Amino acid sequence: MRLVLSLIIFFSITVLVNAKEYRNLVDLPDIDDGYNIHVMYVLPSDGIDKEYDLNSKISMLIYQIDKWFNKKTKGRLFKEGQNLKFDRKSDGRIDITFLNIDLKDEVISREGINAVNVIQPAIARYGFNDPNKVYFVVYGGSNRDVCASSQLPGHQQKKITANTAALYYPGKRTGSCIENNGGFKPTFNNTASSVLHEILHVLGAVPKCAPDHLIFKNEGTINDGIGGHLSIEGDIMYSVQSNVTFANAEHLDFKSINYYNHNNDCLDIAKSVYVTPTVENPQLPTFSATE
Ligand SMILES: [Zn+2]
Repeated sequence: MRLVLSLIIFFSITVLVNAKEYRNLVDLPDIDDGYNIHVMYVLPSDGIDKEYDLNSKISMLIYQIDKWFNKKTKGRLFKEGQNLKFDRKSDGRIDITFLNIDLKDEVISREGINAVNVIQPAIARYGFNDPNKVYFVVYGGSNRDVCASSQLPGHQQKKITANTAALYYPGKRTGSCIENNGGFKPTFNNTASSVLHEILHVLGAVPKCAPDHLIFKNEGTINDGIGGHLSIEGDIMYSVQSNVTFANAEHLDFKSINYYNHNNDCLDIAKSVYVTPTVENPQLPTFSATE
């Protein structure tokens, strides 16, 4: 018994020593019903640890996007607006998990817009694949083509688990995402709007059945054939074929007919299980997915 106790103490101390102060290497016990957006700071095996999980950079980013989302949802389905249901600790702060994966940056970076399809199975191998959760990963490495990307439930091939959105930071080697998008700043800048755009994709927006749904044409760009966007300029889900830039995001489906607070049978972010408050029988991202 004493040996077991000593071993437990030894391993507990080992874990604590290996972890930087307050750094979480696990997904902490949930304080909600378990349906939440779990945030992770993920490094490749050769990555440089900038401690974004510890120095409030990621928390500030989350704060900015949630503030914008709440502002745009005020007076719609709920008078006080809604918030994105991020996985939080009992003190209200974001539960951010740090994870160092066994893949080199080059293996991820070369995948470009599909890098998230390498990151998702990688974090799943380490146990971050809770079927009730979606994951937002701040990847501390590069990306050949994009600053952020995500998996689109309802648009993805069936074999892919579409539950992850990723920000690549610093991302592109040429035309740095930080320079072009603002980086971690206490404003709703292009980095923040790109992240919200990708998270809304993982939550199911824009559904195929939306009246203004846009599918990129096959024009030989990285986005060929990709759906999930709106053709309305200024909307957070608007995008251009080349994925070079987002217009300044001002709207969250202001017509209320496409993906937020509408009256049709398509997926509705206002009724999602990943926003709060929400409706009595909330929807999952796969709501009315046709394949
Ligand atoms: Zn998009």
